[in-house]
Order: sequence, then C-alpha cells, then structure tokens
Amino acid sequence: MRSVPLRNKPWLNTPVFKKYRSEMELIRYIQTLASRDFSLINGMIPLGSCTMKLNATSQLLPVSWKEFSSIHPFVPTQQSQGYIALTNQLEDWLCALTGFKGVSLQPNAGSQGEFAGLLVIRAWHQSCGQSNRNVCLIPKSAHGTNPASAVMAGFRVVSVACDQYGNIDFQDLSVKVEKYSSQLGALMITYPSTHGVFEPNIKQICEQVHNHGGQVYLDGANLNAQVGLCRPAAFGADVCHLNLHKTFCIPHGGGGPGVGPIAVSSHLVPFLPSKKIDCSIESSAIGSISSAPFGSASILPISWMYIRMMGAEGLRKASALAILSANFIASRLEPYYKVLFKAPNGKVAHECILDFRDIKKKTGIEVDDIAKRLMDYGFHAPTISWPVAGTLMIEPTESESLEEINRFCLAMISIHSEIKAIESGRTDVSNNPLRLAPHTMSIVTSENWDRPYSRKQAAFPLEDQLKNKFWPSVSRIDNAFGDRNLICSCRTVEEIAEE
Ligand SMILES: *Cc1c(COP(=O)(O)O)cnc(C)c1O
Repeated sequence: MRSVPLRNKPWLNTPVFKKYRSEMELIRYIQTLASRDFSLINGMIPLGSCTMKLNATSQLLPVSWKEFSSIHPFVPTQQSQGYIALTNQLEDWLCALTGFKGVSLQPNAGSQGEFAGLLVIRAWHQSCGQSNRNVCLIPKSAHGTNPASAVMAGFRVVSVACDQYGNIDFQDLSVKVEKYSSQLGALMITYPSTHGVFEPNIKQICEQVHNHGGQVYLDGANLNAQVGLCRPAAFGADVCHLNLHKTFCIPHGGGGPGVGPIAVSSHLVPFLPSKKIDCSIESSAIGSISSAPFGSASILPISWMYIRMMGAEGLRKASALAILSANFIASRLEPYYKVLFKAPNGKVAHECILDFRDIKKKTGIEVDDIAKRLMDYGFHAPTISWPVAGTLMIEPTESESLEEINRFCLAMISIHSEIKAIESGRTDVSNNPLRLAPHTMSIVTSENWDRPYSRKQAAFPLEDQLKNKFWPSVSRIDNAFGDRNLICSCRTVEEIAEE
C-alpha cells in the first residue's frame, strides 16, 4: 500500500535534496564534503586538552551490533543482563583506575560530569547539615566548563591565582580557604593542570581544602597522563570525572555523543545519580541528571574494549608514552620557541604550551597565523590561545608515531625560519606565507601569482607533501566575524517562512 503524505505543501526544497539522484552521485557528494574535513586519517590533530587519540576499529565494531544499538534504555532489567554485566565491569575498572569506590556512567559529557559531581558534593554537605557551604574555589587555569558547572550547581565561584610554573598559587589558596572557611563547599582542580604540568602540591592542596570542610573535585579530563600510573583518590580528591571520549577512545571530533562518568569516594556513593526510574527508591541520590540510566550507553562498549584489550600493563604504557611524546616535542622545539610552563624538574605532563607573545611583539605574527600556516604543512592546528592567550597547546597522545611527531616538529621548525625571515627584514611583514595562510589549490594554481614567495613554499613547504598533500578548501577568513555572525549558504529563514 502506498502511504499518502499528510503534508500537502512541498518539503525539502533546498536544491541539495534534489540534486543527487543516484547512489553513485550521492556517495561522491558525501565524499566531497568529507574530503574537506581534516581528520586523523589525514594527519595529527595535536589539540591540547582534547586527547585526540586513535579510535581503533576493533574498539568501535561492537557499537554497530544490534545487541548494543537496538535496545531501549528502560527495558526490564532481565532483558539487558549483558549490558548490565558490561556496565558493572566498566564501573569496576574505572574504580580501580581512579582509586574511588563508586561510579555513575550517566553524565553525557565531562561538563555534565562536573555538574553531577558538584550536585553530589552539595547533597553531601546538605546531609551533614551544612547547606551554607556554597563557595567553589576554581584556579584561573581551569577549563571554562568548571565555573559554568559550579554556577549551575548553585555554587558561588571564587577564583584562585596560578604561579609562574602554572600551578595553583599556594599562598593565594591559603588566603582564600581561610577567608571562606565556613562557607567552603568545594575546590575544582585539574590534574595535571590545563597548563600541562603535574602540581607537586596536589596532596597539600587537597588537605588544605579538607581542613576547612570543603570537598575536592578533580577534573579528570587529563587522565590520559595518569591511567595506570597514579590515581586521583590517592591524592585526596573526593570526586573526579573522566572523559571516556578523550582518555578511553570514544571518538569526539565534531561534537558528541560523549560520556563523562564521575567516580566518587565511599562517603559520596549514596548521592550518585539515580539509575532507577523511580528516584524515591534511593532517597539520598541526586536524582537523574540525564534521561537514561546509563547516559550514552551504546558507546560504552568502545571504552570497555579499549580497557579490556590494553590490560593494566598496556594502559600504563599508553600513559607513559603520551607523557614521553609531549616531553619529546617540548624539548625538540625549545631551541626555537618558548615552552611556557614546566615543572621545577623541567618536564611537562602530557601536553605542552608554546608561547608566541614575544614573536608577536617583534614581528606582528600572531598565533592565528601560525595555526593557519600549519594547515599548509598538512596539520590540524593545536589548541589556540587557551588556557593562555597568544599560545598554542600541543597534545600528541600515545597514538602518534615518532615519525609523525617528527614531521610536526619539522613543520614547526620550518615555520620558525619563516618567522625569522620576517624578523630580519628579508620577508615583507604583511605579504608573507604566514599572514596569507592557508593556501588553497585555486590560489596556488591561479594564472597570476604576485607574491614574493614561491608557489612551492606556499603549498609544499615539506618535501613529503609532494606525495601526499591535504588541500585546505578555504583561504584566510575572519574568525571573529564568523563566530559572531551566522552565515548560511541556503535560503534565509525569512524566505522559508514566507513560502
Ligand atoms: C574537555 C574538558 C572538559 C569538558 O569536557 P566535555 O566532555 O567537553 O564537556 C573539562 N575540563 C577539561 C580540562 C577538559 O579538557
């Protein structure tokens, strides 16, 4: 029987919905779009604080099995025994890796984990008759989600300064915990910090906060530097979120779905988000914080597979290698660029920050120019201007080979010589390959090339690019303008509304 559409007006009228009428054409169209996107298939994505690591095929396979993908989150539990076994085991493993006593897999992102963890802390304070404890200390280096989550969870944010090594300023912390002693609810701390260093004082910091009645929330987004080596519970933290879409291999380029479980100490276990539809059963639980008991359950098999296949020894080696790779980059690039933060022993953690502010003063070249130029060299730019403006934060992870890491270092060293040429006056300050990056195919092959550098330098600055070149499809755009103005290539909303 042919069903008759209820709608009588035409729909999906945008040309793209009508243009590709055969499977062949549709596949080509989709592939054209995909080829404009730089992914890990093309090269390294050294985004600091994002942990862009290999999402292995073997880890991803079970996601498509109907036993995992076609089951409703609220089926009677006797129908989801396999799922329950998997989530129980994953919770146990995450407890073992963090040193905590209970885990909730419910939060769908790290930020939601922060929110859940802080609600748990509030609920615990309330249960102790201390609902006045609503001050949350957050160091200046924190990820933007930290203060946002704290405010959403009903805390008042008080910021704590950082020292020259990128660590929490212990002096300032002491002043703040004294000042807010009776209202202190929590400290949020990222370890290793977003400045890319292991805080040597982490234990004393946790102690300080506990002495004043507060709880310690450890932002575990950087757990890639800890798994198998050390455990947040051992430093004295009370709650910690993990980003399964960073450390535990769930793909996350381009948005969700993510998984940001929280792990907590035994005294907080009764307050974990409820897994039951009827919250009244677990009276102290904070209720649900997402609409399914195990959040993005269908992608949990990825992390399960990763942990199961790596084993304890493999996980430890991965963390060690991630730290080694970051330190290799920091020391290889140090003769050319300033490494902003290092621990007193001269080492970084699993990521490092390069500082370009002096270069900007001398040459006018900005960190954006370097990021755009890296596209010409066949790399995704590292994290720009976060957590410090005018810097790049590089995180290679354990997944990148020494060969690719060296290729990245070569690109950065070559960019350094391009900067030197500007500094010495050999190259024009505005008409140069950095300022005019990235170079698209149409620019490089246009009939008139009126730039003072060669086409080869523009598009093939590294020798091996002659064999394998990723072409940026758009040249320099005004980032800030684009961020503030929604630009749509289809019909305007007004036109659609009028129809
Ligand atoms: C990524 C990250 C977060 C937030 O995690 P989401 O899953 O993106 O919400 C929080 N803190 C730090 C340090 C991070 O790197």
